[in-house]
Amino acid sequence: EPRGGHNFLRQLIADQIARGEHHGEVVTRFPPEPNGYLHIGHAKSICLNFGLAEHFGGKCRLRFDDTNPEKEEQEYIDSIQADVHWLGFDWEGAVRFTSDYFDTLYDYALHLIEQGHAYVDELSSEQAREYRGDWNTPGTDSPYRERSVEDNLAAFEKMRAGGFAEGEAALRAKIDMAAGNMNLRDPIIYRVRHAAHHQTGDAWCIYPSYDFAHGQSDAIEGVTHSICTLEFEDHRPLYNWFIEHLPVPARPVQYEFGRLHLNYTITSKRRLRRLIDAGIVDGWDDPRMPTLSGIRRRGYTPASIRAFCETVGVSRSDGVVDTAVLENAVRDDLNHNAPRAMCVMDPLKLVITNLPEEAVEMLAAPGHPNRDDLPARTLPFTREVFIEKADFRESANKKYKRLVLGKRVRLRNAYVVEATDVVRDDAGEVIEVHCRYDPDTLGDNPADGVKPRGVIHWVSASHGRRALVRAYDRLFATPNPGRETGDFLDDLNPASLEVHAGCWIEPGLAEVEAEQRVQFERIGYFVADRFDHLPGAPVFNRVVPLRDSWSK
Ligand code: ATP
Ligand code: MG
Ligand code: MG
Repeated sequence: EPRGGHNFLRQLIADQIARGEHHGEVVTRFPPEPNGYLHIGHAKSICLNFGLAEHFGGKCRLRFDDTNPEKEEQEYIDSIQADVHWLGFDWEGAVRFTSDYFDTLYDYALHLIEQGHAYVDELSSEQAREYRGDWNTPGTDSPYRERSVEDNLAAFEKMRAGGFAEGEAALRAKIDMAAGNMNLRDPIIYRVRHAAHHQTGDAWCIYPSYDFAHGQSDAIEGVTHSICTLEFEDHRPLYNWFIEHLPVPARPVQYEFGRLHLNYTITSKRRLRRLIDAGIVDGWDDPRMPTLSGIRRRGYTPASIRAFCETVGVSRSDGVVDTAVLENAVRDDLNHNAPRAMCVMDPLKLVITNLPEEAVEMLAAPGHPNRDDLPARTLPFTREVFIEKADFRESANKKYKRLVLGKRVRLRNAYVVEATDVVRDDAGEVIEVHCRYDPDTLGDNPADGVKPRGVIHWVSASHGRRALVRAYDRLFATPNPGRETGDFLDDLNPASLEVHAGCWIEPGLAEVEAEQRVQFERIGYFVADRFDHLPGAPVFNRVVPLRDSWSK
């Protein structure tokens, strides 16, 4: 299967249209269960379903697959909608819920009973498991399988009316207890759940199974292409069986594609919840989480996620994608779109001794090296500036392209300076570097022909602003968390968050709005935190460093 953008479903639908096998609109749906926050894997499904509708001029709906009331919550319903919108997609019409169709689904269940295609089974769940058999052993018919229609209708009514405790009775489709495909061995259609539902309240104490609800909801909504992940392939015969045996208004078809697996991360809601419960991250939207809300806070753009999904493509196999592909997608986007700025993360004071104390020269710097539409910046150049500790050494060989005592370096967007002296603290550590600047070197090399070794970034000590910068990195240190150790919590990257409390940023940056993205020159891409940053009290998160340090 060719990688990089190949989408077999886009091709398949194009072929169906070309051959005249598909008429009318392409209608898809994104069907999350509201039992957690969406993660990067869901983004693939969102981009696929909404993307196909966009591509073929059709429709995509958002439908909450809400048949498990105990696990579902309004908080998840809200966050899922916000995440889909954030990715830049909008669903057709109102948000749908599978629970909108509970009355119709109930009628469909009655229809199956009346046609002799369903029965109320009163085996205990242990008994039912034995009767079911396994992959090598055909199942055995339940003694309740041959109940009369009247008997079944009465028993189903008793289920609906609350006459059974949970597990005492279930409505099953009467298909084939010897089927090779286990999904066809009289699957459950309705089970008893004495639980209030977030949409329907106390109206029901029986709830349809996923298999019974899904295809029928697709049919009710006029979905033409019901796209799900590969683990549902074996459910397709059942999906079709229901469509064939019910008076549904349309005949949707299920198609399967391979799930997204990303290395260095986990994408199961259950395991993500464990990270939160263990206090390893700060919640669903911690910037290290692979949730869409976490990725958003980390500073990823919706465009970069969509580009990533396009790059990964859609195929019928489950492959593992390197997290570097995701990181490169946001690098590409921000390299082109993020304005440039300077931030000193680990400051060392540089005193320019041939500048008077009160001197302030406003230097102009481009907002972006090749984007004239991004506004230019103004950098106050003053006697005291901060540089990175790592950008100064008392002595170093020629490979060190930064500031060395007695040597020259260019301050980015400013002048060439030559280090003359250091000031030490009692422990002998350098706490200040003194230098002289050459006033003729703005955009020019020194007249004496001795070139600077390199270019370093800096921020005015008197006019710069303090900032809190959180350098985030991958949450896990190994490609397949838990594989070797047995527990993914044993594979955490201890350096997934480094807080730099005493950073200095150029003055204009302190006032940006939350979620403004920027390249800190020579360091990486950063975003003003969606929640913790306030104009005037800057807090930045690192999206990614400029270069990948993980790939060998
Ligand atoms: P989880 O296992 O994390 O609970 P799920 O599949 O149960 O995920 P749903 O809410 O049912 O989550 O997912 C909504 C849609 O997103 C489904 O169509 C599902 O197949 C798809 N989806 C979920 N995870 C992935 C993934 N890793 N790659 C592609 N699609 C996914
Ligand atoms: Mg699911
Ligand atoms: Mg799930």
